[in-house]
Amino acid sequence: GHCKTKGKADSRINPVGITEAFKRDTDSKKINLGVGAYRDADGKPYVLPSVLAAEDKVISERGDKEYLPITGLGKFTDAAAVLAYGQDSKPLKENRVAITQSLSGTGALRIAGAFLARHYPHSREIYVPSPTWGNHIPIFRDSGLEVKHYSYYDKKTVGLDFEGMKRDLQSIPDKSIVLLHACAHNPTGIDPTPEQWREISNLIKDKQHFPLIDNAYLGFASGSVDNDAFMLRHFVEEGHQLVLCQSFAKNMGLYGERVGTFSVVCADPEEKARVDSQIKILVRPMYSNPPVHGARVAATLLTDPKLNEQWLAEVKGMADRIIGMRSTLYDLLQELGSKKEWSHIKNQIGMFAFLGISPEQVDRLAKEHHVYLTRDGRISVAGITNHNVRHLAESLHEVTK
Ligand code: PMP
Repeated sequence: GHCKTKGKADSRINPVGITEAFKRDTDSKKINLGVGAYRDADGKPYVLPSVLAAEDKVISERGDKEYLPITGLGKFTDAAAVLAYGQDSKPLKENRVAITQSLSGTGALRIAGAFLARHYPHSREIYVPSPTWGNHIPIFRDSGLEVKHYSYYDKKTVGLDFEGMKRDLQSIPDKSIVLLHACAHNPTGIDPTPEQWREISNLIKDKQHFPLIDNAYLGFASGSVDNDAFMLRHFVEEGHQLVLCQSFAKNMGLYGERVGTFSVVCADPEEKARVDSQIKILVRPMYSNPPVHGARVAATLLTDPKLNEQWLAEVKGMADRIIGMRSTLYDLLQELGSKKEWSHIKNQIGMFAFLGISPEQVDRLAKEHHVYLTRDGRISVAGITNHNVRHLAESLHEVTK
């Protein structure tokens, strides 16, 4: 027939497949470092206390269950834009940012793909870093774009291949669409420095590329939203017209509520009005309008001064626990006498650490030590706790001797 399904998800790289293997393992020492969700100091899913308080407030307000507008809850999208672009953002003050609520970061990326495939006149190709978050590739393919890669990760240094990145962004056609991770690059945990971002911004401007910024970890990288927003705000200040995909899955722990935004920095309010209307034309046949509960919770956290303060402290708490676990793992590897260079574990940023080990070593970690991670050697640092870090360090030392 016409309708053939081809291919299947690679269970060795797909965190869901890893969780399956982890569940089947009956050893009490087992550790799951495959999941991309924050875990507390006891390895449990974490609902932020500020989120619980915001939910209490939302429920006490007894709001109705009517449909939201196509572009979502205005109180939420207004506040989300200020959070990302900043209180003093010029395009916000000049009323030239078009924004819509989205089904978390994935939904924002899917709208971005569809929007650019339909309206970006200069290219149908999107360049993503190599490697990038696995889902980027099918999201943009399904949107009708062709996905290509630019250099990002340097295997030798387990760091940024800055020269390769610049070379590639220079050699691709002018006006290409370029996806950039705003902070806490997934899967590598390696971000350009502010100085390097400035250079990248200049290069992208010279080449007239169109930046698509994926911001799934605002606040999660350093513990400070304003620090982590540097890259986005710098690009906006430099006058790039760009699109932004924002997720509240990680920084509010609202994974399953699907809360995010898609926004477009336009040239002027007239263009913004046209973009707003095109966004509605795109979204209406996809899902009509977004869900209301998570948006109310997020809006409360962003606009209630006391809850906002509490939320920001909790974001910092999550980031600090991750940073602390990086040091502990590093120190234990030293203490065990590992001869390998592990400083990248401490230097990398955000939820993930890219260990720089081989797929065979990853297999041994699972088979011999009950430690589960994706075959690219990425661990979710959020899955490390004081209870399991020693077993992890010993296992890692053992397979890399
Ligand atoms: N972008 C990146 C880089 C991510 O890592 C993720 C989550 N793993 C997302 C977007 C989207 O996540 P969500 O749809 O849950 O917001």
